[in-house]
Amino acid sequence: MFSGLKTKLLARPEVNLLVCAYCFGKLGHLLTHIFCLSRILSVMSSHRLLLVHAHPDDETIGTGITMAKYIKAGAKVTLVTCTSGEEGEVLVPELAHLASNKEDKLGPHRQIELANAMKALGVTDHRFLGGAGKFRDSGMIGTPPNERKDSFWQTDLQVSADELVKIIRETKPQVVITYDDFGGYGHPDHINAHRITHYASDLAKVSSYKPELGPAWEISKIYWTCIPKSQIQKGIDALASSGSKFFGVDSVDEVPFAVDDKYVTTRIEGFDLVDQKLAALRCHATQVEDTGPFFQMAQVVGPEALGVEYFRIAKGNVVKSGDFETDIFAGL
Ligand SMILES: [Zn+2]
Repeated sequence: MFSGLKTKLLARPEVNLLVCAYCFGKLGHLLTHIFCLSRILSVMSSHRLLLVHAHPDDETIGTGITMAKYIKAGAKVTLVTCTSGEEGEVLVPELAHLASNKEDKLGPHRQIELANAMKALGVTDHRFLGGAGKFRDSGMIGTPPNERKDSFWQTDLQVSADELVKIIRETKPQVVITYDDFGGYGHPDHINAHRITHYASDLAKVSSYKPELGPAWEISKIYWTCIPKSQIQKGIDALASSGSKFFGVDSVDEVPFAVDDKYVTTRIEGFDLVDQKLAALRCHATQVEDTGPFFQMAQVVGPEALGVEYFRIAKGNVVKSGDFETDIFAGL
């Protein structure tokens, strides 16, 4: 077992520099081992990942496996959620009174759902942009919530980007994950999450830009979440054969968030983490029904449906092994 671990670790050049053969050769030298182990852990935790999502539940649906996988590998993972999802539809009848057109108390409830989901995934550093409740869910374009001055969409871009500059400079991530320029499917908060991430990443690296927000930091790699068309087609076919429909559509061309396979660069696999992702999804009970499409996909398609997450590189270089890059920290 140890020789396998040794080979695996020594294959990593940065670990090779730190792990002494002495330590692996003499298991009895406990103190040496503790010293060695702490150095290995410090190498692993030097990987820092920041995710910028729009609403509670987006992080689990799109990147639950990725977060759990890198936490397990010892990386430092920080989740920033831009709004509390105050305008979400409430799927639990007993909690319908929380909705924005009734008591308008869904935000605080979803903050708790998020905290529980992060417990399920092992993520301890999760924050709301500017603090919980600072930027309100914008609802869809053309609806009254979208016109509110306190909505994320109506907030001046620099004001919200500065909040992220602060976090980038504090947490110093090498890798950042957010959405594409369409926010995946067009929701204003998702589009804005994309915009502030790219704006903040440009501002954060300029040492003369608001030094009071922290010392300059340049992110090495930025990824956009995505689902390749081929995978969505597999889901549509599998659900059709069991008599259901994937989000009510018949063809992949009707799915706004489907991305051409040729643009997909990176594939993160974690079949052993699917149960954790499902547990985290269940925590978002007001938003995700446990008889809904995600759970159906898990049953009908199998672990491939929820156990693999895909990304497009938006900054930095892809380091492929085969058809896809399989580690977002590859090359760093
Ligand atoms: Zn969302």
